[in-house]
Amino acid sequence: MRKKIIAGNWKMNKTIEEAVELANGLKREVGGCTEVDVVLCPPFTALKSVSDIVSESQIAVGSQNMSSEDEGAYTGEICHTMLKELFVRYVILGHSERREYYKETDEWVNKKVIKALEKNLRPILCVGETLEDRESGNTEKVVEVQVREGLKGVSADAYTELVIAYEPVWAIGTGKVASAEQAQEVHAFIRGIVKDMVGAEAADAVRIQYGGSMKPGNAAELLSQPDIDGGLIGGAALDVASFAGIINAAK
Ligand code: PEP
Repeated sequence: MRKKIIAGNWKMNKTIEEAVELANGLKREVGGCTEVDVVLCPPFTALKSVSDIVSESQIAVGSQNMSSEDEGAYTGEICHTMLKELFVRYVILGHSERREYYKETDEWVNKKVIKALEKNLRPILCVGETLEDRESGNTEKVVEVQVREGLKGVSADAYTELVIAYEPVWAIGTGKVASAEQAQEVHAFIRGIVKDMVGAEAADAVRIQYGGSMKPGNAAELLSQPDIDGGLIGGAALDVASFAGIINAAK
């Protein structure tokens, strides 16, 4: 049985003061939750404060990006050592916003995935098609390339650590959620690719989250699908009641 994982991607939102308020509220509401893995991914500036708040709870902390390099002259970047110092356990990699605005390629994302695993951080690898891809019948082709390239060179035993987030780009922040059937179909497809790449055991173990306008009202149906093992949440992660509502739906 795969344990569900609900992660909140706060993106470029929340000052330290606001992040502290949100983290305290979530600790109160879901800090003792053991049935579901709960991960908060605040902006870098709030990582320390959020880490301190959730340190004595069941909630884990993740970052929204990580450099593929160890250290050095990479202005504006953050490396694994800096994240681990703040007790970060998960790293979101290859989010569609980074692919689109910062031109991150599959090859680059793969370097980050490999680095994260090597340093005992758990990657959340994001994949997903654009509306244009879907409408032109290319969803599977696009997702397959992102999965195969993003996870190139990853050993079968690492699949218990890493998480794949299927996030149809057309559903992110748009209020247009994929139907449970549409999402399940792609999740099963991704699991099939993993099986083909590294075998049935790893495919069975890997957790695949859905992301794209997940809310308390649609979470239960999405999360009841056999291959949907959690959610990567943007907008609804910015509010205690809505994020806690999704976690409760996952229980
Ligand atoms: C995301 O960006 O990862 C995301 C799923 O955003 P939203 O929930 O706002 O669609």
